[in-house]
Amino acid sequence: MPELPEVQALAEILDRRLRGLRIAGLSVASVAALKTYDPPPSALAGREVAGVGRHGKFLDLAASAVPTSPAGSASLPPSPGSADLPSPGSDQPPSPLHLLVHLSRAGWVRWRDAASDARLAQRGPLAARLRFEDGAGLDITEMGTEKRLALYVVRDPAEVPGVSRLGVDALADELDLGRLRELLRAHPGTLKTVLSDQGVIAGVGNAYSDEILHAARLSPFARTDRLDADALDRLLDALRETLGSALERARALDIDELKDGKRMAMRVHGRTGQPCPVCGDTVREVSLSSRSYQYCPGCQTGGRIYADRRLSRLLR
Ligand SMILES: [Zn+2]
Repeated sequence: MPELPEVQALAEILDRRLRGLRIAGLSVASVAALKTYDPPPSALAGREVAGVGRHGKFLDLAASAVPTSPAGSASLPPSPGSADLPSPGSDQPPSPLHLLVHLSRAGWVRWRDAASDARLAQRGPLAARLRFEDGAGLDITEMGTEKRLALYVVRDPAEVPGVSRLGVDALADELDLGRLRELLRAHPGTLKTVLSDQGVIAGVGNAYSDEILHAARLSPFARTDRLDADALDRLLDALRETLGSALERARALDIDELKDGKRMAMRVHGRTGQPCPVCGDTVREVSLSSRSYQYCPGCQTGGRIYADRRLSRLLR
């Protein structure tokens, strides 16, 4: 799943590529992926991309209305005395619409220099296609059978429940030592669970929480409300360093490389059974119902190995 560094790098690429382009339409192939109905996707047609940003792991494409002036009026000289008077109703620019995309586990985008507006196949990886008036397009895709990618067309990003509940962004300046301590105390639980909870700190998911905890030499099972000052210090340093350097790496990649690029630099995540690059101990895994995560006993748990719950269930 793309997390903060990949989504941020992707938003920056899309912002450079799409800003100023006029939208021809949004075709939705996967009806299940579209979570909103008002405004309809057709409301995006004719608008111009004002920018692409990010909220947590959500991409946010803002589409502004293009000012429509009565035909020919632009070439007429203003009538005397009227130049500084706003015309009725035009003093407030109409607010943009937003297309929000949550890529979930297996979602991604693909740029097309020429995108057909033909009816899209209902099956297959294509969830939606955003077409532009210059003929290019952006395909929003999701691999695999588990379809969880989500699209929203809204007037305000905060209308999306997953956005309105986001906690402080993991790379925001306001996430300092005091704020981190406050947040962790207010959310008692294991570090692994709380760190990847988007409602506490936005942008960190399963993969980077493994990496951050490894860099901080903290157990995924440590209690958030019992960390001493030194542990908090290490956690904040590890959070900034891990996400910051991942973002730097991600920024050097293009759209197609970015999706899988993050695996390369992982030290423990996805590396069960391999030696830890720091201490040489064997990276271990804990499997829960729908996901698994990794840690190094040597670096993080004082050598303690936690039972793999899935495995112990099988052995019982
Ligand atoms: Zn280690």
